[in-house]
Amino acid sequence: MWSSPNRRTLQYISSYGCPYACTFCAEPAHSLRHWRGFSVERVVQDMRRLDALHRPGMISFVDPNISSRPARGAALAEALILAGSRVPLLCNMRSRDVLEIEKIIPLSRLRAAGFRKIFIGIESGDDDQLKSLKKSATAGFHHQAVMALDRAGTEVQMSFIHDLPGESDEQAQATLEPAETLLDVKTGGSYQSHHFSMPYPGTELFDTVFPGEKSYDQVPTEDWARTSTFQANRVWQGDPGRRRWVVEELERFHRINPAVIRKREIGRLRQSAAVGDDHLEHFLL
Ligand code: SF4
Repeated sequence: MWSSPNRRTLQYISSYGCPYACTFCAEPAHSLRHWRGFSVERVVQDMRRLDALHRPGMISFVDPNISSRPARGAALAEALILAGSRVPLLCNMRSRDVLEIEKIIPLSRLRAAGFRKIFIGIESGDDDQLKSLKKSATAGFHHQAVMALDRAGTEVQMSFIHDLPGESDEQAQATLEPAETLLDVKTGGSYQSHHFSMPYPGTELFDTVFPGEKSYDQVPTEDWARTSTFQANRVWQGDPGRRRWVVEELERFHRINPAVIRKREIGRLRQSAAVGDDHLEHFLL
């Protein structure tokens, strides 16, 4: 979850776990797909207390999935408005949940309650791939949710995963299509984050990619330390040719809208795509 570099951001957790089963995420193993959340009243009380005590510039909800119960999300927005809450809030939501919330309240109410920035995991633009990722969402839901939030004046961080194991050329292309289409979001501050697939231990993807071959402790700690989804990746290098192509496409998108695809983002990905070329491994933009 992100925070704003210019603000004092407090992190807060209003719920535990996530009922979904995304294959690239460790949450299903952590929470065994159980979800429990504080009551709306408790969350509003906590927001008021934290605001009075610390006067934060922002409060970031770091729940794995705050929108697991869309009715609770809508009720929380209304209760925050009623309580006169003025703290800017950040959180992540599933696109399908955003559309469910919109059936209960206009999304402008989320904005009025303080939900200024919302993270949406788009991951892929291909419905078959989303199905195999067990994302419980379609590319259409993602597009609708981002556009609806944008119309409501909410900043959206859109997250994509490239070079998934077994991905076809068509699927790779399909993931770049929504990235290009969503370059024209209007709300200032919205941006895209792009990642290369990394099967982490504890995820279903890890067991698929390394069936019985590799366990967490067989990989040197130094390699884990130099592994992430958008920087150097020592453990899983994927398809370097695909990764270079993705970086070239994102560079093209950056030229179209540098606010939505940031230079720094591309620099990190270029570094990841270049793993193996030692002279580039420490490349910094
Ligand atoms: S990616 Fe999000 S929705 Fe999917 S299992 Fe993880 S926390 Fe839940």
